[in-house]
Amino acid sequence: MEINMKRTDVVIIGTGAAGLYCALHIPEEINVLMITKEAFDQSDSFLAQGGMCMLRDEEDYEGYFEDTMRAGHYENDKKSVEVMIRSSQDVAKELLAYGVDFNRENGKLVFTREGGHSRPRILFHEDVTGKEITGTLYENAKKRKNITILEYTTMLDILEKDNCCYGIVMQDQDGTIESVQAKYTVFACGGLGGLYRHSTNFRHITGDALAIAKKHAITLEHVDYIQIHPTTLYSEKPGRRFLISESVRGEGAILLNKKKERFCNELLPRDVVTAEIKKQMAADNMPYVWLSMERIPKEEIETHFPNILQRCLEEGYDPTKECIPVVPAQHYFMGGIKVDLSSKTSMNRLYAVGEISCNGVHGKNRLASNSLLESMVFAKRAAQAICGEIKTVTFDDTIKEADAALYANIEKLKEEYKKIVLDEIEREKQSH
Ligand SMILES: Cc1cc2nc3c(=O)[nH]c(=O)nc-3n(C[C@H](O)[C@H](O)[C@H](O)COP(=O)(O)OP(=O)(O)OC[C@H]3O[C@@H](n4cnc5c(N)ncnc54)[C@H](O)[C@@H]3O)c2cc1C
Repeated sequence: MEINMKRTDVVIIGTGAAGLYCALHIPEEINVLMITKEAFDQSDSFLAQGGMCMLRDEEDYEGYFEDTMRAGHYENDKKSVEVMIRSSQDVAKELLAYGVDFNRENGKLVFTREGGHSRPRILFHEDVTGKEITGTLYENAKKRKNITILEYTTMLDILEKDNCCYGIVMQDQDGTIESVQAKYTVFACGGLGGLYRHSTNFRHITGDALAIAKKHAITLEHVDYIQIHPTTLYSEKPGRRFLISESVRGEGAILLNKKKERFCNELLPRDVVTAEIKKQMAADNMPYVWLSMERIPKEEIETHFPNILQRCLEEGYDPTKECIPVVPAQHYFMGGIKVDLSSKTSMNRLYAVGEISCNGVHGKNRLASNSLLESMVFAKRAAQAICGEIKTVTFDDTIKEADAALYANIEKLKEEYKKIVLDEIEREKQSH
């Protein structure tokens, strides 16, 4: 039988930190195809400002564990939290070896602090840590002969038979719909902020994999656990909201009401600070509250937060001299496609990593700067699990290409997927 369908050993959907880290942990003799909806640098991983957590030393373990659990309302999976924390130093070492440049003082790594953390344990690169990490991972992936990256290519569905995943249906840059058979498929599709009017996420990150998972009866978990970030720069313009990182508050910025009075402890976990801000906005009848950086030395603002400073200036505010207006916005998705400690979903040969997956690390609410770390820790575990099994798997000649006509109306499909996700979130909310 003649097979026209494209074939690859592993297909990874998404080129954020999770997808790239997974790909880099697959040895060179295994072919990897990576696809992304937009350009390679249009992922939320590139937007991360604050940094990435790392266990400082053995004495830090209990505090780090407790901070993560407390932020997650103790609904976290303890084993997942332990795995993440215990793997953090290795991830940091690997990132340094890939060439990631974390901030240092006198040659030593420096750590910052964000809300919910009992001590500074966050590695950072100015206020563009995500760009530094993900850009470096991308440069490393580009050098690898076994990794092919296709931009402007969208996953529309999976190829499935008897609860086993055989690859994907995708639309390429020219609009052609084609099927790709893969021995293993990895969803690394990020969150779902693009479905919300106010979100810090890229608009094209719309939880597609979640809709596809629901359609194929793959187990989901806690899809209503959605994090709102307390401080994004208030703007009346449409589009993505600009994040004012929690580490700005960690370094001393304070929240003020209409009368420029302080109204809460800025370093409480995100959901608590968000609730306080919303209460204050209602009391003041204002669409925002103020954030004052006057306690942070000007030089510190310029060196630690140059990107934030620049963006505020573009919007007409000088944070070294005046308060800036901030408002909460959708930011992160704690729920997702249920996975085990190796990131395996309920469907055979299908893995999910990063924000689209739910391994229980974050519980009901994510602790700041745990997500880049979590994405990479569990992406590596997925790669290891896949590599352990792939030698026993062969391509299946009975798998047929999907009927392209079923996917011809992309706009209709997008609407359908959006509805599936929003209905599922609502259904989950009602079930509590
Ligand atoms: C503004 C901002 C600041 C943040 N700051 C921090 C921080 O300081 N520290 C921290 O730890 N975390 C931070 N986060 C969270 C963190 O960046 C993300 O949770 C994490 O990077 C998610 O990585 P990911 O690889 O799972 O997804 P992403 O990086 O979002 O990548 C998703 C990828 O999937 C692709 N994709 C999606 N759907 C499809 C489809 N249907 N077909 C093809 N491709 C598809 C996208 O194009 C993209 O390439 C921040 C997030 C934002 C938005």
